[in-house]
Amino acid sequence: MENIQELTNTYIAKTYNRAPLQLIRGEGSLVYDTAGKRYIDLGTGIAVNQFGIADSAWVQAVTAQLSCLQHTSNIYYSAPGAMLAQMLCQRTGLERVFFSNSGAEANECAIKTARRRAFQTYGDESHSTIITLQSSFHGRTITTLSATGQDCFHTEFGPFTGGFVHSRPGDIADLYRLADSSGCCAVMLETIQGEGGINVLDREYVRAAWELCQKRDMLLIVDEVQTGNGRTGKLYSYMHYDITPDIVTTAKGLAGGLPMGATLFGSRCADVLTPGSHGSTFGGNPVAAAGAVSIIERIDDALLADVLRKEQLIRTALADASGIIGVSGRGLMLGIQCEKKAGEIMSRAAEEGVLVLTAKDKVRLLPALNIPDDLLLEAMEILKRVIAE
Ligand SMILES: *Cc1c(COP(=O)(O)O)cnc(C)c1O
Repeated sequence: MENIQELTNTYIAKTYNRAPLQLIRGEGSLVYDTAGKRYIDLGTGIAVNQFGIADSAWVQAVTAQLSCLQHTSNIYYSAPGAMLAQMLCQRTGLERVFFSNSGAEANECAIKTARRRAFQTYGDESHSTIITLQSSFHGRTITTLSATGQDCFHTEFGPFTGGFVHSRPGDIADLYRLADSSGCCAVMLETIQGEGGINVLDREYVRAAWELCQKRDMLLIVDEVQTGNGRTGKLYSYMHYDITPDIVTTAKGLAGGLPMGATLFGSRCADVLTPGSHGSTFGGNPVAAAGAVSIIERIDDALLADVLRKEQLIRTALADASGIIGVSGRGLMLGIQCEKKAGEIMSRAAEEGVLVLTAKDKVRLLPALNIPDDLLLEAMEILKRVIAE
């Protein structure tokens, strides 16, 4: 273990602050380190292992495809991606899907689509601006960083891609002001800002953004990279708002632990991307797609109701805790504002056998959608103790 830490710190780029923990195997919502110590996993690799670790149906779907054909390229037809795209369209009412490998790429594709549609409408770049929100997070590429409304991610990486303006979340008048002052083609938002601190956008605001986009011939792009795939108690979190976005992007939990991104297009932009205009070597990879099919097909009404029930278990367990200022979020994407520093709680919880994340100044919980109640309650007891210390 010491050796691996040393190798990592010597040879891997220093982009991550790592906990002094080397995880080697797991089962469901339990994960073990090199010393055999057991942890209850409330982080799922940042909302990725949607049905926990080594979930048997997922392992079976992935390994069956792996031993049959691991990759084809998009020059040929392939079943898993086609079946996944059909499922996603039928479940959302959107019309087409572009597959990639990450959230940043899914958002890049959305941005390209919105701009190309505007170019085709106006014949020039006069309507290329995209409105995103302050404290948003859309990825780490130069363009998705430009979209991201947090200065802390921007330091020393300029020049940035032009054509992004950042609006205050919740401020409908500001959205209209920006839409009418510069030529805009889209609004892009997360319904719950994840990296920004588990901030839930309210219903009136999201619906107003949707209406604005319809009135001004702009596209509403909802970034569901973190909120998607059952995480908030709906298949996609926009479904809590009774709206139909023009573009939905997702990644993280989509393929249950394999790299996959997806950009879903509604009727106003389903045919904007044409042959040769966009692509990805690994996009729609059959192994990742087979994994995703096994995840999406199990996210049914019963599972989603159970996600909301588990949210209540957590909220009830934390209701009488001391040291907690408030709990934000929805479903199994929750942020706990504590009196103590979130980073301190994360380290102490790991010592006590519970893995949590942070989001800005909150402790962030993103457990597996199927975490057993007894493990969840055991983790809450430990977390409460650590928070109250
Ligand atoms: C994580 C995240 C991204 C970036 O996804 P990557 O797969 O790391 O590129 C984009 N948007 C949101 C909302 C995210 O949570």
